Amino acid sequence: MSTSKRPVTTTDAGIPAASDEFSLTAGPDGPILLQDHYLLQKMAQFNRERVPERVVHAKGGGAHGFFEVTEDVSPWCKAHFLGEKGRRTPVLARFSTVAQEMGSADTVRDPRGFALKFYTQEGNYDLVGNNTPVFFIRDPQKFQDFIHSQKRRADNHLRDNNMQWDFWTLSPESAHQVAILMTDRGIPRSWRHMNGYGSHTFLWENAGGKKFWVKYHFKTVQGIENFTAADAQAVAAEDKDYHLRDLYNSIAKGDAPEWRLEMQVMPFEDAADYRFNPFDLTKVWPHTDYPNIPIGRMVLDRNPANYFAEIEQASFEPANMVRGIGPSPDKMLLGRLFSYPDAHRHRIGTNYLELPVNRPQCPRHSYNRDGAMRHDNPPDPVYAPNSFGGPQADPAFELPNWQVEAGEIARTAYTKHAKDDDFIQPGTLYRTVLSDSDRDHMVSNIAGHASDGVTSDMQKRVIEYWGRVDADLGRRVAAALGGA
Ligand code: NDP
Repeated sequence: MSTSKRPVTTTDAGIPAASDEFSLTAGPDGPILLQDHYLLQKMAQFNRERVPERVVHAKGGGAHGFFEVTEDVSPWCKAHFLGEKGRRTPVLARFSTVAQEMGSADTVRDPRGFALKFYTQEGNYDLVGNNTPVFFIRDPQKFQDFIHSQKRRADNHLRDNNMQWDFWTLSPESAHQVAILMTDRGIPRSWRHMNGYGSHTFLWENAGGKKFWVKYHFKTVQGIENFTAADAQAVAAEDKDYHLRDLYNSIAKGDAPEWRLEMQVMPFEDAADYRFNPFDLTKVWPHTDYPNIPIGRMVLDRNPANYFAEIEQASFEPANMVRGIGPSPDKMLLGRLFSYPDAHRHRIGTNYLELPVNRPQCPRHSYNRDGAMRHDNPPDPVYAPNSFGGPQADPAFELPNWQVEAGEIARTAYTKHAKDDDFIQPGTLYRTVLSDSDRDHMVSNIAGHASDGVTSDMQKRVIEYWGRVDADLGRRVAAALGGA
């Protein structure tokens, strides 16, 4: 016990409290008195401690660090934070599982979120990626349904592999992402040992106005390491927070994880007649067509001091793009431009961008004002245009755009490219990227998942789905499921 003088506990209004132990009562045996304001404040505050957990990406952790430019990026992009070799920008990263809940185990089979916030001098730039380069669907119309299929049933409140395979087998565009999920990469050993991908295609513009479609790849310098399904289960039984603890402990002991940022760069004109739709989030761009070009590194070297303030309330939104960087016609990205800030307004509140972790670290001159918990409104004049010297927008900051040849308003798939097939890329992954033992693990991971509460009719669809990815894979899944 320290003998130094301890501060007196106070209420949140700073009034010294008389006891941390006893409620104010009428006599030693009560009843408790309503005038015990300190007690009431403690109880009321406690009831309100949680903000709603994220519907997706609820369980996670993160850290602070920096991004450093290591190559000349000016041929492709004029973003200020990429503007000079050696330039460093503060970064916040948050890693997470996708479909799991707040208290769930880290070492489960699920994609991992890889969300980044770059505090640039021209505003915050957010990149909300995953540890896989593709996604289950390509149209935001299906996102809510997809997530519902991954979450709990309406009747018994249990998760249900049968409904997961139902959605996947009815949505052939999911095959590539499910294939990756069922390889060993579906359970990373730690957040430090996985890559991060921007996944979507973005539009870059250089100072001369030339445009390029790009994809971001953050390659782990620690190397890819995964858990087998059995090891992951054993770890989950011992420590549900294994990934959270691993990241925290390695940074605490000075072992700062690092990722190399490599870009795939597609000349703007290539997109129109590329052999498949380059904006389709279920597809990668083969490296033989667009090799990865290293441009920088990200290092995470500072743990949060206050998890709730710095990680739980961290609000990433892909709509935060800075000069030189714009969206692409990827419909999933366009949908997410709305859904992320909408989620933050609901979870955190109208003024979520006021919190230190979300505020830009550069001057801000917005005319937005007021609302719950606002504490530093902009000064007069409070409107634009004005003749009193208030901030003025500048067309030089328009984000890059593309020309739309829209045609009639429609609800359809993307315009067809020659090879828009859903099964080619997962087939290539299975046949040419995976080793023999990777393939063995993939088959047993699929069979393990599809034999846990999955009906035999559904298993037939599972076999057919994998047979379309690769005939040998289909046969092996059938054999592993007992010839369903
Ligand atoms: P490459 O041989 O050039 O690339 C293969 C890629 O596969 C590498 O980036 C490698 O990542 C990654 N990889 C290795 N093992 C796995 C796994 N178990 N799960 C997911 N990815 C893995 O060929 P292509 O560019 O032509 O791509 C072939 C296939 O590789 C694609 O159809 C896709 O399934 C997969 N892939 C492709 C990526 C791309 O951007 N082109 C990115 C990731 C996967 P690493 O370098 O980290 O080992």
